[in-house]
Amino acid sequence: MFLYDNGPQTLAFASTENINEYFRRYIVDVIGNSEKTYYKYIRGLKRISEYMKEMGLVKESIYELGSIEQLDFAWKMLNTNEEFVALNTRGHHMYSAGYRHYHKFAVGELFSRFSEKEIVKMDVPVVCEKPVVMEYKIWKRSGILRTQTVELAGYQCEIDHGHSTFIAESTNKQYMEAHHIIPLQHQEKFKNSLDVYANLISLCPICHRKIHLGLRDDRRCMVDELYEKRKERLVNCGFILGKEEFEDIILSD
Ligand SMILES: [Zn+2]
Ligand SMILES: [Zn+2]
Repeated sequence: MFLYDNGPQTLAFASTENINEYFRRYIVDVIGNSEKTYYKYIRGLKRISEYMKEMGLVKESIYELGSIEQLDFAWKMLNTNEEFVALNTRGHHMYSAGYRHYHKFAVGELFSRFSEKEIVKMDVPVVCEKPVVMEYKIWKRSGILRTQTVELAGYQCEIDHGHSTFIAESTNKQYMEAHHIIPLQHQEKFKNSLDVYANLISLCPICHRKIHLGLRDDRRCMVDELYEKRKERLVNCGFILGKEEFEDIILSD
């Protein structure tokens, strides 16, 4: 019944607790602090969790916060709670010390200096939990339009035709991705659909990540280029935007 269940038979822990367990191994086994120090941090984090729960920032504990952004946000909110701030001050910042170490661990401080010997201390079976059903808003987009966009561009990157990727099994052509120039998350600002040919472009995966995640100035250059390329066609589809307005919307992400 258990596929590939022939790994080490050490104690497995559930994935809700895995961050907690990883944190313990990090503090005790890798950094070499005492169990006592670890429990001091844990007590602080437990108290922090209780406050966060009360404030509706988490359901049960701080370990649910799955990204640095969420962690930073919850911590910022917690520090607007005068009762917590007073408690932390009275307790000689024991709570914030626990948080500070947990945050250092979460951002991976020291990870770049870990040796192979140290990282294997973090290897342990983790019990797999049931998948979580998430509810969030997604604007409908056409897979057909995306396929056609890449076909139309001749399986080339429209930022630079020289960019090469690899041959995809599904098409036997060079792999490219379709990108919405004005991303669909801005749909609420417009009456007309953003899922139109004029707003779609074929990009290599590097350019695609870059236009979403690159340096602001680099993104601006790409966005300006696309504006010049597509401004007339976008007008045909009901998008009458000046260059600055266009930039502001896209770079606001
Ligand atoms: Zn995109
Ligand atoms: Zn490219």
